[in-house]
Amino acid sequence: LQAPPPVRLTVLHTNDHHGRFWRSADGEHGLAARKTIVDGVRAELAAHGGAVLLLDAGDVNTGTPESDLLDAEPDFRGMSALGVDAMAVGNHEFDKTQAVLERQRREWSSFPWLAANVSRSGQPAFEPYRIFQRGPLRIAVLGLTTEDSARMDLGARHPGLQFERPAASAQRWLPRLKSEADVIIVLSHLGHYPDGRHGSSAPGDVELAREVSGIHLIVGGHSHSAVCMRDDGARAEPHRPGEACRPDRQNGAWIVQSGDRGRFIGRADFEWRDGRLELLNYALLPVNLRGAPPVAEDPQMLALLTPFADSGRTTLSVPIGRVTGHFDGERASVRHRPTNLGRLITQLMQQAAEADVALVSSGGIRDSLREGEVRLRDLLQVLPFGNRLVIVTLDGRELADYLLAAARKTPGSGAYPQFSGARFRFDGAALHELHIGGAPIEPARRYRLALSSFVAAGGDGYPDLRRHPGYVDTGRTDVALLRAAFERRGVLAAADFEAGTR
Ligand code: ATP
Ligand code: ZN
Repeated sequence: LQAPPPVRLTVLHTNDHHGRFWRSADGEHGLAARKTIVDGVRAELAAHGGAVLLLDAGDVNTGTPESDLLDAEPDFRGMSALGVDAMAVGNHEFDKTQAVLERQRREWSSFPWLAANVSRSGQPAFEPYRIFQRGPLRIAVLGLTTEDSARMDLGARHPGLQFERPAASAQRWLPRLKSEADVIIVLSHLGHYPDGRHGSSAPGDVELAREVSGIHLIVGGHSHSAVCMRDDGARAEPHRPGEACRPDRQNGAWIVQSGDRGRFIGRADFEWRDGRLELLNYALLPVNLRGAPPVAEDPQMLALLTPFADSGRTTLSVPIGRVTGHFDGERASVRHRPTNLGRLITQLMQQAAEADVALVSSGGIRDSLREGEVRLRDLLQVLPFGNRLVIVTLDGRELADYLLAAARKTPGSGAYPQFSGARFRFDGAALHELHIGGAPIEPARRYRLALSSFVAAGGDGYPDLRRHPGYVDTGRTDVALLRAAFERRGVLAAADFEAGTR
């Protein structure tokens, strides 16, 4: 009896695409160049009798105004044209409404969205897994979504959504997958945390591999990491184009992840022999990154995407007004201290809501507003999530508790607050000299607090106020407030929003 011949399988993978269907201003990434690389690998494998599986580990949504404005239609259509075999559901797939999600999934995606640990009102919300046949090989791909999703503002947009602990879901499905397939792949939007040290995020791929035996490969996302390991167990960061990359390996499972924004495509070449999967070679293929060999853009993909890019360009280029000075929304500023942009946004919320205090978490502010003409694109870059203005009426005691919770948020985290209307001193434990609108707070008085819908729903660990009797959702988006301010005033001066100016 002769042993069956070895089988070649190449897994190509991406993650955290975040709206990058088009090339960047520097000509980097984009689906048209990605297509050329993927097609090249397919042709190479076909010539050598091997097969390709193309996987994406989720977070296709949210990240560029061009894509956000079109609900990521070009991204999902483009990934379908690319021949993606399956995608894991990322937390940002819940950024839009359920109606948009269903359209993205059913109309624009030709590939399954997998998530074994997400249910809606007790029913599975997505397909848990798919079996792929490649030559004689049967490959199971199981999808998992981070429990971090549950901390996002899902309530209003996705009622009834629940997340099971990913390792528990995997444990439950594995016997069935083993009976149906030779190779077990987990397509995960859980994050890679070296040695499983996940900090305040939910547990990731390392913890999964250690807890659940029998997984051959985890194709990951969420932490936006190029998973290339050093000998001491840390990640070799940053990963530069052309450098060698050794993926993580835990409890017999390979763990891979290819950075983010489609800047790299992960390529894992396996051989299946005598019932074992062996990794022959691994590389991160750069997609038109500086210092790497240039890749031509695929003409058919360009033809598909160009109308989308053009339509976005026109709408987004409409001038809205002007800025003098610089409204600071840099991550390194806005997550650490009050900034003029934080003041502008919260003061506009305060005015629109006729509120005493307004507050957002700084992680929702994603860019600065720069000197000169302002276009719709610039506003959407600052506030990409489309959150709504929420008003909650509280008594002074409740407001003081709320502000204490805000003051306790760690500087540097997305939860760190930007606010207006309140003044206090915080000694690490309590608030002192708390003033609202310039007057000492009165415990029995009623106050109006303006919040983003994200924060009001318990996002970033803030108190969930949706069931508070004083809760009102105005339905107005944060971008609409900013846009209206420019349309009203024409010019906004950063100098008017420095500390102590109002
Ligand atoms: P990933 O893309 O991997 O899921 P991310 O890029 O959003 O993560 P960070 O850049 O660290 O991760 O940003 C996280 C912060 O983004 C949160 O702390 C929160 O402040 C903010 N954020 C995330 N989603 C929303 C949302 N829907 N509305 C407002 N703010 C949000
Ligand atoms: Zn992401």
